[in-house]
Amino acid sequence: MLIYQCFFENILHNLHKYAIIGLVSFYKSMYSEMLYRNQKEDYGMNLADRKVELERELASVKREMKSCNHEWGETKYDPKTVKEPYGYKLVGQGSDTWFEPEGYRDVEKKRWSQTCKKCGDKRYTEQTRPTGFEPTF
Ligand SMILES: [Zn+2]
Repeated sequence: MLIYQCFFENILHNLHKYAIIGLVSFYKSMYSEMLYRNQKEDYGMNLADRKVELERELASVKREMKSCNHEWGETKYDPKTVKEPYGYKLVGQGSDTWFEPEGYRDVEKKRWSQTCKKCGDKRYTEQTRPTGFEPTF
């Protein structure tokens, strides 16, 4: 009887031990997760580490942008303003004279744009199809 009792006590003791080990490892992983999150949230890491992390993230974003198989959004009328010269005036002295425009004025040029839904890249066109004058890229 005593042997059995010892046997069961031993099992109980071991179970207790394993329960504690389990609990400790559980709290340990919770704690390290908390530490990690804290670091990420209030930037507890030093600035050099943070710089390295941001540079890595930037490189990864740049890679993604570079390999984007663009998905162009809707076409928008997106005119551009260009400076156009007007008039002529003679400048210079003696035999060293030349003509220059009197001034420049803003002229609106027809243009259309599309923006990629994935990477935000923008493409422009000033060309239109002869039939119906639809913008073409
Ligand atoms: Zn894209």
